[in-house]
Amino acid sequence: MKVLGILPFARQLLINAVTIGDLVIDGTAGNGHDTLFLAELVGESGHVYSFDIQETAINKTKERLIDHQAYSQVSLFQKGHEEAINVIPEHEHGNIAAAIFNLGYLPGGDKSIVTKPETTVKALTDILSLLKKGGIIVLVIYHGHEEGRKEKDQLLEYVSNIDQLKAHVLTYQFLNQKNNPPFIIAVEKR
Ligand code: SAM
Repeated sequence: MKVLGILPFARQLLINAVTIGDLVIDGTAGNGHDTLFLAELVGESGHVYSFDIQETAINKTKERLIDHQAYSQVSLFQKGHEEAINVIPEHEHGNIAAAIFNLGYLPGGDKSIVTKPETTVKALTDILSLLKKGGIIVLVIYHGHEEGRKEKDQLLEYVSNIDQLKAHVLTYQFLNQKNNPPFIIAVEKR
C-alpha cells in the first residue's frame, strides 16, 4: 500500500516535527512504544515527558527504555496527561516540539481503564499552549468502544473550533474500513 496506515502516518508526522535535542510529550505511555520512538528521535540531548495513570504501563515503558538504552532522556510520570502543564518546568513552556496521544485502553491490559473525553480535551488545550510555533500534537483516536465514541465527538468539536490563525487542524482517516478503525487528528501550532 502506498498510502500510509494510521500508525505509520502518526509516526511520520512526529518525524517531520521532531529533531535531536527537542522537548516532546507522550500523553499515553502504555507499553512504551511511542515513548521509545520519541526518545530515539530527540536523542540524549533532548527530553521526553511521558504520562500514564497505570503503574503497569509505567513499568513496561521503563523496561523498554532501559532495554534500548534510552531511559536517560525520559521522565516517566504515573499521572494523568491533564497534569502535564503542572509537571513540565515553566521555562520549557512554549518550547515543546511535539506530543502524541494514543488514546483508549492499554493493549493487553484492563480494558475498563480508558482515556476520558474531559481530561483528554484539557490535556490537548494545555499542551497546545506549551507548543512552540510549528509544534504538533498527534492524537490517535479509537472509537470502537462507548467512551471512545464520546471522546471522538468531543475532540472533533473542540479541534474544529480552534482558530485557523492559531493552528492547522487535520484528520487522517480511512473511510471505507469496517469496525470503526482508529483515525488521526493532528494539530500544528502556527
Ligand atoms: N502509546 C502506547 C504505546 O505505545 O504502547 C499505547 C497507549 S494505550 C492505547 C492508552 C493508555 O492511556 C493506557 O495505558 C491508559 O492507562 C492510558 N491513560 C488513560 N487515561 C490516561 C490519562 N488521563 N493520562 C495518561 N494516560 C492515560
